[in-house]
Amino acid sequence: MDRQKYSELVNTFFEWHPEDLSLIFSELLSAVVAERSLTPADIMSQNYETARANPEINNRPGNLKDARDAVFPYFWGTDSWNNPLHLENVKGPANQASLIGAIACLLKNPNLCTDRYSQRSNELEIKAITALANLIYYHTDDPSGVFTIGGTISNLYGGRIGIERVVPGAMQFGLQGQRLVGICSEAGHYSNQTVAGWLGLGIRNLIAIPTDQHLSMRLDLLAEKLDELYRDGILVAYICATFGTTDGFGIDDIEGIRKLIDETSARYSVPRPQLHVDAAVGWATVMLSDYDCQQNPLAFTSETLELTRRVQEKNIGLRAADSVTIDFHKMGRGHYPSSAFIVNRRDDLKYLTRSVADTPYFSDADVRRDPAMFTLECSRPGIGPYSVMASLDGIGLTGWQMLVARSLEMAHRLKQKLSELEHCKVLNQTTCGPTVNWWVLPKGRNAEEIYQKWIHNQLSEGQLTVFRREIRQLFDKRLKTMNPALDARLGFTTSYGFRPHRLEIPAWKAVFFNPRTTDEIIDRIVESIAEL
Ligand SMILES: *Cc1c(COP(=O)(O)O)cnc(C)c1O
Repeated sequence: MDRQKYSELVNTFFEWHPEDLSLIFSELLSAVVAERSLTPADIMSQNYETARANPEINNRPGNLKDARDAVFPYFWGTDSWNNPLHLENVKGPANQASLIGAIACLLKNPNLCTDRYSQRSNELEIKAITALANLIYYHTDDPSGVFTIGGTISNLYGGRIGIERVVPGAMQFGLQGQRLVGICSEAGHYSNQTVAGWLGLGIRNLIAIPTDQHLSMRLDLLAEKLDELYRDGILVAYICATFGTTDGFGIDDIEGIRKLIDETSARYSVPRPQLHVDAAVGWATVMLSDYDCQQNPLAFTSETLELTRRVQEKNIGLRAADSVTIDFHKMGRGHYPSSAFIVNRRDDLKYLTRSVADTPYFSDADVRRDPAMFTLECSRPGIGPYSVMASLDGIGLTGWQMLVARSLEMAHRLKQKLSELEHCKVLNQTTCGPTVNWWVLPKGRNAEEIYQKWIHNQLSEGQLTVFRREIRQLFDKRLKTMNPALDARLGFTTSYGFRPHRLEIPAWKAVFFNPRTTDEIIDRIVESIAEL
């Protein structure tokens, strides 16, 4: 081998060259900042044909600028969602404290699989998990958990514990012929199906309980279902309750579910299911748990105080959960992937633990501590803990209270304004979160009347088709005629989570995750609807 060339190669790609790196970093940074002058782009037309047809790579070693050039067009062609007009879905702009954390993480590149590969980064994970657990469970003695690559995987952990709880030994011996189901609500996220499928329960063995108008799981129907299942000798591995449904922010009565499953499983003398709570979207309201509504130190308006009191009441429910999923990369405005799976009692991780004999690769691992002994993943990124601690400490509890309260305030403002229009109907009026779901019908229609008939099943198939079409067509019309520099980008769902008489209800939607969205932008949404 040409040692000269080899050492040039190593020097370029494995030595630190702070100036070269800073230069490229500032170039990339300028490109993001330049987005300020752009409107939130429609997706730039992608060139999948060429992407597949030209997988060639450079032949000769290049330099760091070649690395930059290799990705730059795709980087440029990707919208960061920093624009305050982005309201389509549960994706916000990532916060800058998280950026600092994430960059620090990338510079050291820890692997959270075991202490040996990550040293103090594993300590940071424990700190971040405990900080989040304290917010969620309030006063708790011995919580634990891990960061995963997403809410789906965090939900998978909850389901997996449930299986082991009710079929001990399943990790080793499988389900051993035991019939088993999981339960969620009809407004639950589709990841519940992914989880049931991937856990081997089967998607058909995931039971979705209908929700009421508030998008909460109906406990009367859950009670009936539990009786029916237990009578038939079928075990329930887990209930995945939702704290903040993705579209409408419905919150399940977690304490009610807790009482019901404990009581019913005891009555049938069967092991009680895992009560997992999918708070991927909703968890951030816990920032307001401690807000003093009497003193009102942040000078919230009386309306915001009322919203705060309402979420404080809901937050209490989380304390009844065995385990919780939180996505910091959603309302935490953290970098992907920053999802956490948190158990209230560390002892519950025993349901996932393997022995060192099972993982000879980590023969020196410590079963009591090393995550690799109980995680699904082997290598795990450190982005989550770094993003979370930098964001929590950088922004501070009071900062978070302002951010969360402002999201609630913006959603509330839009709901209020839309309620004044006869041809519009806010569907998730009673939920208290950052999302708004609503209908726009042609002027002259009475949306409330139509809604009442819809939910009481008094519309013909033909009428339903007409209304569904009108709601969609007006959405598309706004999309075609809107001014992209002025009009916010909204989302659309074909079923927002309440399905009376199994009828799906479509909705326009807006998600207020962007702290830079203004009252003017919200008011303009309502004007743009009036102009349709
Ligand atoms: C987004 C979401 C998930 C899935 O989380 P990912 O991080 O996208 O995998 C699960 N549940 C709810 C309620 C969600 O909104």
